[in-house]
Amino acid sequence: MICLVLTIFAHIFQTGWTGAKERTFIAVKPDGIQRRLVGEIICRFEQKGFKLVGLKLLQAPESVLREHYWDLRGKPFFNGLVCYMGSGPVVAMVWQGVDVVKTCFGMLGEMNPAVCLPGTIRGDYCVEGGRNVIHGSDSVESAQREIPLWFRRHELHSWDHSSSRWI
Ligand code: UDP
Ligand code: MG
Repeated sequence: MICLVLTIFAHIFQTGWTGAKERTFIAVKPDGIQRRLVGEIICRFEQKGFKLVGLKLLQAPESVLREHYWDLRGKPFFNGLVCYMGSGPVVAMVWQGVDVVKTCFGMLGEMNPAVCLPGTIRGDYCVEGGRNVIHGSDSVESAQREIPLWFRRHELHSWDHSSSRWI
């Protein structure tokens, strides 16, 4: 009986926000678009083996940006950050896969360009922390908050990779 309950619980959990159904929010920031890095950035997540389930180009409203960076509202750079993020279009994406949040966050590299490693996106393309090309959710909880802020439910897609057996 306990086994059955645990199996049901594991199944519900699995189809929610963990396992192969885990999702993260990634955005190429306005400087990434200006610097023509969109294709390169998408390529990295795609070739890693994650599944693209949402994608759009938009100029983010200030209200969305303020909400998105709510945790940083007390920081001296907050207004400048909102201004920079709203200065041009961003490419907003949702990627899905096992441990996608942690893995993608690692693929971004550290905020400080002086310490982010070569091979990471910021490590390869940034010299300035305030112009760091890409955003990624830093935890499953952040992803759960950020995805509905940027995407309506009908803009996200469930589909099967024909190669899923191999990745
Ligand atoms: N940021 C900034 N100056 C700082 C710290 C952060 O302009 O001193 C910006 C930068 O664009 C960064 C974003 O605020 O990506 C969010 O900061 P966080 O510390 O959450 O870094 P991230 O999660 O992006 O690595
Ligand atoms: Mg962060």
